[in-house]
Amino acid sequence: MKSGKGEGKGVGLGNIARKNARPVGQRGLRRESKAARQARAREIVARLKRKYPNAKCSLHYENPFQLLVATILSAQCTDERVNLVTPKLFERFPEPDDLAGAKPEEVEEIVKSTGFFRNKTKSLLGMSNALVERHKGVVPDTMTDLVKLPGVGRKTANVLLGNAFGKTEGIVVDTHVARLSGRLGLTPQTDAVKIEQDLIPLIERPDWTILAHLFIDHGRAVCKAPKPLCEVCILNDICPSSRI
Ligand code: SF4
Repeated sequence: MKSGKGEGKGVGLGNIARKNARPVGQRGLRRESKAARQARAREIVARLKRKYPNAKCSLHYENPFQLLVATILSAQCTDERVNLVTPKLFERFPEPDDLAGAKPEEVEEIVKSTGFFRNKTKSLLGMSNALVERHKGVVPDTMTDLVKLPGVGRKTANVLLGNAFGKTEGIVVDTHVARLSGRLGLTPQTDAVKIEQDLIPLIERPDWTILAHLFIDHGRAVCKAPKPLCEVCILNDICPSSRI
C-alpha cells in the first residue's frame, strides 16, 4: 500500500497542524485546547480510515469463544503466531466444555510457541471452566461478566465486546495503540486504562472499535516502535512527534 506524504489528507486543520508541529510532551499537550485535540483526533481517524479501509481484527476466529481464546493467547505474542496455533487448538477443543476438561500438558504443548504457555494454559482452562460453570458454556457479552473470567482483563473484554458482539463500551489499548496515542499527543499517560480514558472523549463512539485496528495497522506499517517512518506518514503535519 502506498503511503505518500499527501495521501488521504483532509482539509481545514491548517492551524491545528502548525500549532502541533512540535515534539510530543505534556507541555505541548497542555497548550492544545480540548476542542482542538478532539478535532485533530477525529482528523487522524478520518485519514487512517481512508488509508486502511480494510482495517479489522487480525486474529482468526469463527465465534466469540474462539476470539476469547485467541485474544488470551495474543498477550506478548504476534497475531500471526497465534493464528498458526489456534487451528489445531480449536480442532482438538472446539467448545468451552472440551477445553475445560483438557489436560494442561496437552494444551501447553499446542500453545507453547506463543510464549508464557503455562500461564496462558492456566487462563484458558480457568476461563473455560468459568464459562461452563457460570454461563452454561456461552461467552457473556457484558464488561462486568467478561472481566470476572480468569485471564480476562479490560483489554481482552473490549476486544470481545467490539469485535464479537458489536458493542462499543471502550477502546482496546495494546502496545501499538499506547505508542501511537502518545506520539500523536492524544495522551501523556502510559498506563493502558488511563490512556483509554483520555481517548474516549476524543473519539466518536462509533469509531472506538475501529480506532484500535487503525492504530495497529499504522503502527505496524509506518509508526513503528523503534523508528517511525515520519517522512512517509499521512499524519506528519498533525503529529507533534513528527520528525519532519
Ligand atoms: S510516523 Fe511519525 S508523524 Fe506519523 S504518527 Fe508516527 S511519530 Fe507521528
